[in-house]
Amino acid sequence: MSREIPEICRIFAGRLIVSCQASEGDAFRDAGSIARFARAALDGGAAGIRAEGVEDVAAIRAAVNVPIIGIRKSYHEDGRVLITPSFESAQELVAAGADMIALDCTARGQRLGALERLRRIREELRVPVLADIATVEEAVIAAEAGADLVLSTMRGYTEDTAHMRIFEPDFITALCRAVTVPVIAEGRIWEPAEARAAMESGAFAVIVGTAITRPHEITRRFARAVGAATGHHDERRVLIGIDLGGTNIKSGLVTDTGELIHTEVSPTPAAGGAEALLGELRQVAERHLDEARQRGLAPAAVGLATAGWVDPQTGRIIYASENLPGWTNAEPGRLLREVTGLPVAVLNDANALAVAERHFGAAQGVDDFLCITLGTGVGGGLYIGGRLHQGAHSIANAIGHLTIEPAGRLCTCGKRGCLEVYANAAALVQYAGDRFTTAVEVIAAAQIGDSPAHKSIETLAGYLARGCALAIDLLDPQRLIIAGGLTQNNPRLLTALREELNRTVLAPGLRRLEVCFSPLGYEAGVIGAAAAAQELLR
Ligand SMILES: [Zn+2]
Repeated sequence: MSREIPEICRIFAGRLIVSCQASEGDAFRDAGSIARFARAALDGGAAGIRAEGVEDVAAIRAAVNVPIIGIRKSYHEDGRVLITPSFESAQELVAAGADMIALDCTARGQRLGALERLRRIREELRVPVLADIATVEEAVIAAEAGADLVLSTMRGYTEDTAHMRIFEPDFITALCRAVTVPVIAEGRIWEPAEARAAMESGAFAVIVGTAITRPHEITRRFARAVGAATGHHDERRVLIGIDLGGTNIKSGLVTDTGELIHTEVSPTPAAGGAEALLGELRQVAERHLDEARQRGLAPAAVGLATAGWVDPQTGRIIYASENLPGWTNAEPGRLLREVTGLPVAVLNDANALAVAERHFGAAQGVDDFLCITLGTGVGGGLYIGGRLHQGAHSIANAIGHLTIEPAGRLCTCGKRGCLEVYANAAALVQYAGDRFTTAVEVIAAAQIGDSPAHKSIETLAGYLARGCALAIDLLDPQRLIIAGGLTQNNPRLLTALREELNRTVLAPGLRRLEVCFSPLGYEAGVIGAAAAAQELLR
């Protein structure tokens, strides 16, 4: 069933609408400035204005005569902004001159009563209602509930879609197929070419905001481009990197170039469960915010590398082992966003090491590589085609649990013969015949020519090569980077691994596989977490 397009909305067909907004603290944060932006937008050919709040809507109404989409942004008690949270706020906007109302109809918005509000606004205020959504499903539900148009505004701004950072014309196509009401493209449209692509994907109209009406954001793009060309980055910008392990939480302030300018280590309160861990993370984040402030630095984003598997979209822990009891299903991403108000990236610790290598380590400029970390466990991080590969369910790269010895030793995962059991620190101690108590002692003994210690490193390298060969045959990486405690002062491991791989991988002559140790050292997890955070700012 196709609904009539409301008369007042028809003027938008095939046209540009400009969103004129300024946040608190913005140089243009006054209704007079916003009204002048609206005037300028009209002079440039805009067919409508989107604006926030009664004061701005009233000022724009007095200045221009095109339709105004009114919204009200306010903080909900869950700590996040909700667009047009009440019937009363819509009523005030209409009284101030808004011709139609947009409201948050995402899944979260719907939980907070958006669909009932939508019906009431249409019936009682008799104005069109526009649904701001982030997914096709939300659009379908909103349209069925009576929304007159759907807007892609929230794409990239909900927990489920937070990983989407660029405008996607394909999403507009999908929306147009799924709903019978007109679709307006809005959100992350920076370039005229993107606006055009939106129209070509079937959009009824396009809304552009930041790229037109936020001079400081426009300036920032140019400043970054100029800085990138000269090697000068924003000198005040700093990232907070946190590496949560089973024993310690390492953290630091990291510059855009990967330099650690402040670090700290605190014990992991693992026994206290998720509550204790989240409490400690909160304190770590707050200390770094304070530290940055005292140094006159501006924290821009937070990265958390954590043991366990992570949903990168929401920052929720999908699964963590008993090293971190209760951590499964915890939501450190949400907590850190609330505490800092900054964008937050959460990722598995082995994946974070791969990100660190890609940005600042042995994989700079390398698009296909595998990073393996050897310590208490054996972890993996993988880049394919220049992108971190985390798998369909975000549980990929479990290289430590590749079977290298059928019916072999029992692993913590419940399987037998996993690489981890044969290539971790405990295995190295064992190969040396239990003459040593730690892997560090074995490596030190090998360095001064102790033959059994030497031999045990070669044994470990042999097993490690078996696991690596499986991965290499499947993935054909350009570089294999070995990181973690067992690589410290242990050149023999690298030599032996290279020799073994040359014998065991398929078609070694057709490859130019480079095997190397990570250059990043003890803080690599912190740097990787910060690098993942930095990616959010692109
Ligand atoms: Zn296993």
